[in-house]
Amino acid sequence: MRKTSRTLTPRGRSRRTFLAASGSAGLALAAGCGGAPRPEVSTVSHADHSVVPDAYTLPELRYAFDALEPHIDALTMEIHWGRHHQAYVNGLNAALDEEPSLRERPLELMLADLDAVPESVRTAVRNHGGGHYNHTLFWDTIGPDGGGTPDGPLASAIDDAFGSFDDFRERFRDTALGVFGSGWAWLCQNEDGTLVLHDTPNQDTPLADRLHPLLGIDVWEHAYYLAFRNERGRYIDHFFEVVEWDAVRARMRGLTDEAETARAR
Ligand code: MN
Repeated sequence: MRKTSRTLTPRGRSRRTFLAASGSAGLALAAGCGGAPRPEVSTVSHADHSVVPDAYTLPELRYAFDALEPHIDALTMEIHWGRHHQAYVNGLNAALDEEPSLRERPLELMLADLDAVPESVRTAVRNHGGGHYNHTLFWDTIGPDGGGTPDGPLASAIDDAFGSFDDFRERFRDTALGVFGSGWAWLCQNEDGTLVLHDTPNQDTPLADRLHPLLGIDVWEHAYYLAFRNERGRYIDHFFEVVEWDAVRARMRGLTDEAETARAR
């Protein structure tokens, strides 16, 4: 069962932790952030991209910046969420201001059919809208209770598609290592519900390829370079220690009642 009781107050708590831990470098970062208004944060977990909000907002993390250590460090989390993801949110909102007709289509529908997005803002929706979508999923499927292996219908689906969890993990790792430059590696569901591996460049989403993403690893250098430098493979290995498989399973579509009932027992 997914644990929802760990609702923390990430910024207040983790900033103090961070400042205490990292001395002058931390102070310099905090000073850089200090004058800026706090980002607008929504409390929606599993953000619903099927509705159009008045303005897109940075989803609040359900854990502290340092909660994923030693696997993902607090400074990477703070910058990745507070600056990179915020920049995608800002860029998407700028496109919304420029092209009000975007308010007529939910983000996930726009990303699934970019050709239908007005050309003047298509690249902005692709990059910033995709960035918002991908990162929201990313924060939602990792957490302090991560690691281990999946169970229930997700475990069965992984075995069916890849032979075993270990085989899946190795192939997912290879896919993530194989992304040239910046992008993402994914575990997705096909339209028939079977699981497939996938990768996308930049902030492109699997939605554009008619795939439903269950789990994604961000392999942009900003996701790992502070702690792991150029060692993407080590980052991928640590990523597996923070994947919350119940959150991944919760994204699965088309589970039969029987499978859900079996899982509940
Ligand atoms: Mn990122």
